[in-house]
Amino acid sequence: MTSLTVLGATGSIGTSTLALVDEHPDRFRIVALTAQSRVDELAELALRYRPELTVIGDPACYAALQERLAGTGLAVAAGPAALVAAAELPAERVVAGIVGIAGLAPSLAAVRRGATVALANKECLVAAGPLFKAAVSRHRARLLPLDSEHNALFQALAGSEGRDVEKLTITASGGPFRCAELAEMRVATPEAALRHPNWRMGPRITIDSATMINKGLELIEAHQLFDLPDERLDVLVHPQSVVHGMVHYCDGSVLAQLGCSDMRVPISYCLGHPERLGSSVPRLDLAALGSLTFTAPDHVRFPAIPLARACLRAGGAAPTILNAADEVAVAAFLDRRIGFLDIVAVIEEVLAEDGRIAPDDLESVFAIDQAARRAAWRKVAERSHRPVSELTP
Ligand code: NDP
Ligand code: MG
Repeated sequence: MTSLTVLGATGSIGTSTLALVDEHPDRFRIVALTAQSRVDELAELALRYRPELTVIGDPACYAALQERLAGTGLAVAAGPAALVAAAELPAERVVAGIVGIAGLAPSLAAVRRGATVALANKECLVAAGPLFKAAVSRHRARLLPLDSEHNALFQALAGSEGRDVEKLTITASGGPFRCAELAEMRVATPEAALRHPNWRMGPRITIDSATMINKGLELIEAHQLFDLPDERLDVLVHPQSVVHGMVHYCDGSVLAQLGCSDMRVPISYCLGHPERLGSSVPRLDLAALGSLTFTAPDHVRFPAIPLARACLRAGGAAPTILNAADEVAVAAFLDRRIGFLDIVAVIEEVLAEDGRIAPDDLESVFAIDQAARRAAWRKVAERSHRPVSELTP
């Protein structure tokens, strides 16, 4: 039996993880489950998996969760400190599936007790990469990349020596606006941007896929995970989402990982590692697909990729600011405060404004994150002609 905690249990990654647990009921024991505000969904999961601790992030939802689980003997808690406490419980494996910078403190708590962490939350590596990696090695934690492209690279690297590797390629579906004109993108609604052609994911990463900033964040994630500079990290647009990542070796060999576009593939790798965990995911049928296509990304319609590359090269606070400004801009777009193309424009403006001092501890990461958020809300306010006080959640 492997003891397992799922942070962000009600989300897209969380529910896919628990679907795999359902396929292997004798293999996993659930230690803790967390969510932010979806009380009913979390309560249902708690009743089903009977964890030692069930945590709701939003304190305003605590009473409702207590009520839903009254008389069940299940322990419940609420608030950001309780999310960290959930990660601190001694589970061998932790799936870090909280979205956004909110996932940093709980994921780090799991790292600090030396757990094996299946990392979906890319923000840990984007906003606090050097600090997060230092904690992983100091506490002898094990990091298993869960993001599909990075999981593909991890598999295709198969423990190879760094000097054998010339270059890494991650693929991008291109999102719903892969073939759209800028004029269409300018007036794109949240509904259109949320219509991802291949993957079913939470709203933030789905919008990030539409602007392709997700690929930019993933370049930074790959840089942190595999210690390669910007010029040895490549992106290819591959609309079929079958090849997820490729490792180019110094002898001209290229090893790729393929699979259908279902996150249960990389998640099951992380749950079973170093063994393979069988699963019922649809099998790849290449003959039915017929052809796989690859093109270079268009940096004119998708300026988020070069913008993220610039942040990768600048280092310091730039990736932290990039993530924070994106979180705000995506929320503002989903709330119809700004247009689709404004998302990247807001981020660019915030990046131009802020300083470049590298965060040297967690507190400074959060301080930079908060300052970038405030700046982003100001930019949103300017664009939507509304006072900041009316907009800030
Ligand atoms: P979802 O929005 O579907 O789920 C997010 C989860 O985090 C939910 O359980 C949510 O709770 C919880 N949550 C939201 N806000 C907070 C908060 N402030 N504090 C604590 N918990 C919170 O996201 P995804 O599952 O799509 O993504 C999760 C992470 O995995 C992201 O970092 C994403 O980039 C990464 N990822 C996701 C992929 C995917 O296929 N979905 C692929 C690769 C990476 P509640 O339900 O109550 O709101
Ligand atoms: Mg990905």
